[in-house]
Amino acid sequence: MTNTAYRGRFAPSPTGPLHLGSLVAALVSYLDARERDGVWLVRIEDLDPPREQPGAADAILRSLNAHGLHWDENVRYQSQRGDAYLAALEYLAAADQLFWCRCSRKQLADHRVYPGTCRACRQPRDDAAIRWQVPNHRERFADRYQGEQSVDLATELGDVVLRRRDGPFAYQLAVTVDDIDQGITEVVRGIDLLDSTPWQRALFRCLGATPPHYAHFPVLIGANGQKLSKQNHAPALNDDQPSANLQQALRQLGLNIAVDTPLRMLTEAQQRWPQRRLKGRTDLTLKDTEDSNDTTGW
Ligand code: GLU
Repeated sequence: MTNTAYRGRFAPSPTGPLHLGSLVAALVSYLDARERDGVWLVRIEDLDPPREQPGAADAILRSLNAHGLHWDENVRYQSQRGDAYLAALEYLAAADQLFWCRCSRKQLADHRVYPGTCRACRQPRDDAAIRWQVPNHRERFADRYQGEQSVDLATELGDVVLRRRDGPFAYQLAVTVDDIDQGITEVVRGIDLLDSTPWQRALFRCLGATPPHYAHFPVLIGANGQKLSKQNHAPALNDDQPSANLQQALRQLGLNIAVDTPLRMLTEAQQRWPQRRLKGRTDLTLKDTEDSNDTTGW
């Protein structure tokens, strides 16, 4: 029976097809949800067309299906959610939490956090980014994998852009509005997004919602010492060999599972899901051959 009290999601940006690193990311959120009989959603974060690759969203969905990673409910596309993001901006503007900023990158280059230059511009003006004046408080939360976190919003993170000067809604706004709207209770994603979490938690509250639980898992580091990512040209997965890909991806998570149908491999992985072992780890080094077993390096 499905545990509707757990709602998780995998939220790829369609900048390219799935690769081993993103398969591992999908698997961690999938296994976390399925092990708890939870709901697992897929959301395509297609907010920034110039960074996207035509056909990548479909390719990602095909690949997830080929690997047995079947999602619940309908896929959500952020490109269709403009009205909801605008409504959230209007709500924040009515609460006097936004300002219109024309600072250039160059002007901000020497500042670690936004220096507050345009804070007085509380009315909409053209050719300006929309920034959120963050509440002046410390965000504390326990990340299931990375432990206690404590960040001062105003002095360590600063006022963040919610809509870019050239038009697109920003990631921090869209991800929060959708996590609220989709009733997400568990955000399980890569550690590279841990720094964004205090902003998102505070934004949840300013939009009248309770933040979910978080678990940020280690990212996969390739042989060159860099995160395995589209930017670093990680090769696309071959959907014709899903079981071999799953075996390789599961091995990165410390699970040695014999090649079988994706369904049987995922069922076994669910039963052996060693989530405790991800605790406190900030990276995973790519294991590419049969030399690893369930205990090596874990
Ligand atoms: N779309 C983001 C990415 O591909 C992930 C967003 C999230 O999980 O919060 O990196």
